[in-house]
This record gives sequence, structure tokens and C-alpha cells, in this order.
Amino acid sequence: MANICLVEDEQKVSAFICRGLEENGYKLQTAKDGASAKALLQKTEFDLIIMDVMLPDINGIELCRQVRFTDTKTPILMLTALDQIQNKVSGLKAGADDYLVKPFHFIELLARIEALLRRQKVTEAVEHVLTFDDLKLDTWSNIAERAGHQISLTAKEYTLLELFMRHPNKVLSREYIAEQVWNIGFDTGTNFIDVYVNYLRKKIEKGFKNKLIHTVIGMGYILKIEK
Ligand code: CA
Repeated sequence: MANICLVEDEQKVSAFICRGLEENGYKLQTAKDGASAKALLQKTEFDLIIMDVMLPDINGIELCRQVRFTDTKTPILMLTALDQIQNKVSGLKAGADDYLVKPFHFIELLARIEALLRRQKVTEAVEHVLTFDDLKLDTWSNIAERAGHQISLTAKEYTLLELFMRHPNKVLSREYIAEQVWNIGFDTGTNFIDVYVNYLRKKIEKGFKNKLIHTVIGMGYILKIEK
């Protein structure tokens, strides 16, 4: 069940939207102005935001722009009056994903919401899979593959590989790896990081011509394609 934030000062419009969406199985929280909307958005994570352009304290387009500073992902649907069609362009430029002209039929609002949520799902599904060369890591199922062959990893090896794949072509120091994977400060007395990197290397490179994890002497390790 999707959680929707509705920012609208007109009581009648707000009640109409809430009633209709709740009947369709959506959960709603409302804000009547920009200030309360920002407070609400800070403490709750929503699947979608519906935002009216005409608000008492701030223009909805400006509000949208401000929300996008910290939240680049949640779909935003702007509501705008027919005589403010210019708002369409400004709203989309400010980071809104779609807009709807008032007055609208409820069925159209519903269709727009469903389309935005569907699009969001597709985006998330793509982003949860990390790829590097012929290496693939699914961060939902925790399955690693190289050239289509599944690689079985321990929990630490998996975390280590995810770290490399989130920072490709970048030297990662042993200190940084220790902090990120083991949550500890670096202890110069042990070589456990080198040991683990070697375990991981064996698993992802065995049987393949190209090495992917390289030692950078005196600095750490890097995931890269050697040319
Ligand atoms: Ca309004």
C-alpha cells in the first residue's frame, strides 16, 4: 500500500482527493501549507507527493525545488489551475515528475499516480543491481555473478565486493575498507584485509582471464579493468 503526501490548502479539494485515494487503498497524510509539508516530509518517507501550486505561504514550484535538494527520488505530481499553464513548465523544471490541471476527473488523478508509482518501481529495480564489466551484484537477493555464473560469497566477502562495486575505479585504502566492512578502525598489526581481499579475488577471478581487483602498492586496492 503506497503512502502519499498531499500538500493542498483548499479543504474541499483535499478532502475529495483523500477520500478517493483512500477508497482505492492508498494511505494519505496531508499538509495545508509549505512549512507543514516540509516538516512532514522530514519525518516521514512517502512513495509519492501530490503538491498544489497555489499555497498560502510558498509557491508549490518553489516548494518542489526545495524538496528536491534533499529528496531526488520520490515522485512529485503537481496540481495547477488551467490559467497557470506556465506552471507546467516551471514545475517540471523544478523537479516535478508530472502535473495535472485543475479541475480534473478523479480517474485521471488515479491513472497519473499509478503511472508514477510504476515508473518508480522500475527505476528502483534497475538501481538495485550493480554492474562492473561482466560482474553483476544484486543487492536485494545478494547474488553475485560473473559472466552469468553465480559466485558463492560469505557475508563479509559480499560486503567487500559491494563496497568495491559502489566505488569502481577508485583506490580504497585498507583503513577505509576496515571501517566500511568491519566497522572498526584500522589495526596495522594484522593483515586480515589483505586476506579477505585475496579470498574475494580468488572467487571472482578464478577461471577468468581479466583481473578486476588490483593492488595499489602503499595505497590499497582498486576495482578496475586493466587496459
Ligand atoms: Ca491551493
